[in-house]
Amino acid sequence: MADRNRRGIRGVVAAALVAVLAGTAVAADDPAAPAVPEAFAGELPAGVRLLRGQNAPPRQPDGNSLLFATPAGWLAFDSGRHPQHAQALIALAAEHDDATPAAIVVLVNSHWHLDHVGGNPLLRQAFPRLQVLASPAIDAALAGFLARYAEQLREALAQQPDAPQAADWQAELARIEAGDALRPDRVVCADEELALGGRRFLIGAAAGASDGDLWLLDRERGVLAAGDLVTLPVPFLDTACPANWQPALERLAAQEFTVLVPGHGPPLTRAGLEVYRRAFDRLLACAASPAPEAACIDGWIADAAPLLPDEGQRRLARDMLGYYVPQSLRRADAGRCAPPPAAARG
Ligand SMILES: [Zn+2]
Repeated sequence: MADRNRRGIRGVVAAALVAVLAGTAVAADDPAAPAVPEAFAGELPAGVRLLRGQNAPPRQPDGNSLLFATPAGWLAFDSGRHPQHAQALIALAAEHDDATPAAIVVLVNSHWHLDHVGGNPLLRQAFPRLQVLASPAIDAALAGFLARYAEQLREALAQQPDAPQAADWQAELARIEAGDALRPDRVVCADEELALGGRRFLIGAAAGASDGDLWLLDRERGVLAAGDLVTLPVPFLDTACPANWQPALERLAAQEFTVLVPGHGPPLTRAGLEVYRRAFDRLLACAASPAPEAACIDGWIADAAPLLPDEGQRRLARDMLGYYVPQSLRRADAGRCAPPPAAARG
């Protein structure tokens, strides 16, 4: 979710959708909607710990982080954005007992957004022998998207040095300027079965939420770390390729897992992922139709209802989709995006 804040910086107001046509509004009481047994997972299995990322706009979000115990130490999945998140992750790793390790030895980044890699420098500092694995897409992002974002932050700081958000802008700029410390030591370009810390993991490559997403499966424990291929209260569409995202979700659904941990939001069951996939497909179909924007937003709220039990989440979902439907899904070049990694198509 690297991009939405640009609205705040520039004061850009999303263009109103003027073509309000009679269309295929998604009915909130669709009789075909399947009954859902239980969307949210309970406890994570032994040897896996979750640090939930905060998402309370206007503060920039942190993605969820996970710790998986391995014989050599913890494998961490994503490092969050703010220093407080990385420090909490280090503290969570330090709560060890006879069955769990103390040090983080491997870090896998799901993708290059700052809410998932921003804590990399702090983790490297705390654990100098840390090995970081990620998609190579961060190189292009640092040269392109993040470089442009840094330029906007510098402009905003020059023009409004006393703005209430100035400290946040400065911190965000420092994260991008950390550059090399955000990059992986080892790139993962396609699906790989890897022994990490002496334990086997499957890392899957996709390109849906960004141009280089990785997910990670601990088969034995039945835990699938999905990164931002699954996010609540809505799909985070800032740098997304929705056409690549759908097959990525299909592949996630085909994995052997009992608990799926999204990039943002609480852990889901297999049934929860099915709700998400169906709601996602219907959101894309609605956005591609002449239906009014409000109908697509109402459709998501209805379809994803089992995943949005509280009013605050539904309000946030409406606010975010009010931006994403016109600015991401209905943008003129929305269909144009890079092909997914070759190994991820099967
Ligand atoms: Zn994220």
